[in-house]
Amino acid sequence: MKKKNPTRAVAFVLIVVVLLPAILYSGFEITALSTQENLIADTYRRQLDVVLYSINQYAWDVANTWASTLALLHVEQPRGKDVPDSLLTSFLVKHPGIDALFEADSAGGGPRVTSMRPVESGGQDEFAAALRADPDRIDRLLRLSRQGYRKIEGMTLGDSLSPHQSLLLLFVIRDRIDRPLLAGFRIEETQFVNNILLHLGGDSTAEFATEVIRTRSNERVAATDSFPSEEFQPRRQLWLFPHLAVGIRLKGETIEEIARSRTRRNLALILLLDAVLIAGAVVIYRSVRREIDLVRLKSDFVSNVSHELRTPLALIRMYAETLEMGRLKSETKRREYHRTIVGETERLTRLVNNLLSFSRMEAGRKPYTLATADVNGIVSTVLETFLPHLRAQGFSPVVIPDPSHPAILADQEAVQEALLNLIDNAVKYSGTGKYLKIATGHGGGMVWISVEDHGIGIAREHHDRIFETFERISTGLVHTTRGSGLGLSITRHIMDAHGGTVGLESTPGKGSTFRLVFPALVTNTPSAKKGKAATV
Ligand code: ADP
Repeated sequence: MKKKNPTRAVAFVLIVVVLLPAILYSGFEITALSTQENLIADTYRRQLDVVLYSINQYAWDVANTWASTLALLHVEQPRGKDVPDSLLTSFLVKHPGIDALFEADSAGGGPRVTSMRPVESGGQDEFAAALRADPDRIDRLLRLSRQGYRKIEGMTLGDSLSPHQSLLLLFVIRDRIDRPLLAGFRIEETQFVNNILLHLGGDSTAEFATEVIRTRSNERVAATDSFPSEEFQPRRQLWLFPHLAVGIRLKGETIEEIARSRTRRNLALILLLDAVLIAGAVVIYRSVRREIDLVRLKSDFVSNVSHELRTPLALIRMYAETLEMGRLKSETKRREYHRTIVGETERLTRLVNNLLSFSRMEAGRKPYTLATADVNGIVSTVLETFLPHLRAQGFSPVVIPDPSHPAILADQEAVQEALLNLIDNAVKYSGTGKYLKIATGHGGGMVWISVEDHGIGIAREHHDRIFETFERISTGLVHTTRGSGLGLSITRHIMDAHGGTVGLESTPGKGSTFRLVFPALVTNTPSAKKGKAATV
């Protein structure tokens, strides 16, 4: 039966339960964003439309109030009498927005001009020309007036391209005996436009800016702010003067900018959310994979250790029984058997020591008694006990001690154990290249012991992994070599407790150099206390 891969199952669940919904949701949100953007832009545009409407309404109200006031003056006169000049002049004084006032009978006859300017040359002609220009319009105004409705028509006077354009507001009023009268207000375009713009959008606290342009030439008549003309959107024609259009824009950001910055913010949030989810999924996946690996490593470890225990025990038993039966005649053979038994016992002791160290470290109960130590001394102690074993394995170690190195602060026994693990590995993973060099050295405030072999070497990608508990590179020679996967992790733990590190340089097929690096002891510093005990 095919073995199930639990890591793949976890990855599948994470993708289906976390990533897929997140991606689908994000996709949905991102497509919804442009709809939202349009919606926001629409809402703003509608609000601005309302403002434009109110500007138009205001302009209309102003004109209507003026017309009503003038109509009232006529109604208040005795029957058949014209409004005296003095009243019309004071009407103009009260309404500075009006430049001149024209009146004529319904046929356009007897035109009369009232103006605040001393000489109003050609005023009557101007008015008569305006009446003549569009007789249909005059008829319409008169007809509406008969029906009791006063309509006000706006038109331009004279040269429509002149920068100082004058406008005419034309309407019909009725006097006391209900005689229709054609009346007109001449107003200065810029002044009128400024007046209506300032009414709503003119003060500096207003949220929006307004502008009036001439629709045909796109020429600006007036504006409350200096934004470029094309940014005033939306734009609407003035009811009174269709040749003019009023445009509006928000003062801070334009509608498009608001919608775009909202979209950008939402997009950033969605992406952030996705990133967090993906990071979360990766973290979960990694930790689950680590747990699964650990379970596998532990089970490998149990079988490795059983094997490690059984092999030397079987050898010891077999050699001891042979010796006991006294079958061996030659003294050399007997000595060789004894050596094997001693060697295997040492191996068992090392294994049991490593197991004990490991379980203490796991429980955080391994005590370290730090004292001033000398790395050369540590190397010679280890070699003294291990040399026979090394020789028996065909190694003649090269030892190069550093003659003048600083002392270190160390737990002698623990460092010996770390060094022994490195030497043991050098022997185990050397294959036929039986070379072992142990050297000590110092520099840059550090002191080190290095163990070099010409063995199988370790590929770069395994350099970090092999220091993890139970990790073994289970290929080639390692596969056939006994080991628990504890040695290097114990070594690193010991070095951590000394404030040191384990260095590694290795080339596959050429060999490896492991280096135990300690901080040098500066003897006059207060921290260099003798016999300091630490539990790590
Ligand atoms: P063990 O030797 O019991 O397997 P270690 O923790 O001491 O466990 O070593 C972990 C792994 O590192 C070994 O299984 C081996 O693959 C690799 N290794 C350690 N030392 C050497 C070395 N000197 N040369 C080649 N590989 C090594």
